Amino acid sequence: MEALVKYEKQTQTNAMTKLDTQTLRTRLLQEREELLHDAEVTAEERDVVTLDQTSVGRLSRMDALQNQAMQVETDRRREIELKRIDAALKRMNEDEYGYCVSCGAEIQPKRLEMDPATPVCVDCAHKAD
Ligand SMILES: [Zn+2]
Repeated sequence: MEALVKYEKQTQTNAMTKLDTQTLRTRLLQEREELLHDAEVTAEERDVVTLDQTSVGRLSRMDALQNQAMQVETDRRREIELKRIDAALKRMNEDEYGYCVSCGAEIQPKRLEMDPATPVCVDCAHKAD
């Protein structure tokens, strides 16, 4: 009887820590869609700014330049995020998802739930800081 209880407890724990790759994949694909959509929207907005540039004064011109610099930074971050997501999806296809690309250890499921695109375990992430 006691042994049976122990067994049930164990299987329950295993089920809880099992990685739900399907859900994580869906989340990654959604995030990817949003990033690509954002990229499209900002590209359209940028076209509008360029058209207006002949009529703007000196101050708003400086604003425009500042906005442009911020835009470049946003684009850069989006680009990095997209690469992380693509790499994570690739690892899923190759059945390597959930393992640290740096040391090969299993990445904690909780960590993957928080950031499904993370390529490294918590130890390697700290080392990189
Ligand atoms: Zn690692």
